[in-house]
Amino acid sequence: MKSYRKELWHTIPTRRAFINITSQVEECLRESGIREGLCLVNAMHITASVFINDDEHGLHQDYEDWLEQLAPHEPIGRYRHNLTGEDNGDAHLKRQVMGREVVVAVTGGRLDFGPWEQIFYGEFDGRRRKRVLVKIIGE
Ligand code: ZN
Repeated sequence: MKSYRKELWHTIPTRRAFINITSQVEECLRESGIREGLCLVNAMHITASVFINDDEHGLHQDYEDWLEQLAPHEPIGRYRHNLTGEDNGDAHLKRQVMGREVVVAVTGGRLDFGPWEQIFYGEFDGRRRKRVLVKIIGE
């Protein structure tokens, strides 16, 4: 069995954003040479997410609006977590809702997606360097 590991670093210039990382993961799969197996992609930070959905117009703004309703960034004082002096209590909750990781089947050397599926990185406390782990196992 082959095993491949890579960290994808991103610095998102805003507090929150969603970026499509599908092509970066496909590049990892090419580098790995693995044709049949599993590909895990996870955020390595507790205030960021990796998830799969469509890259559809409006959807990312809908996520932003929905998450802000569930866990508004302000007022910062509404979160007990922020009593530590941090201001990212909302980001921890947003990450919990949007998830930590995805696993995609690898078939014939390609990510075996359903229709319209793509991989996204969700940032909820950006403006610093953060990592996504790609781990691919198979043959
Ligand atoms: Zn925190």
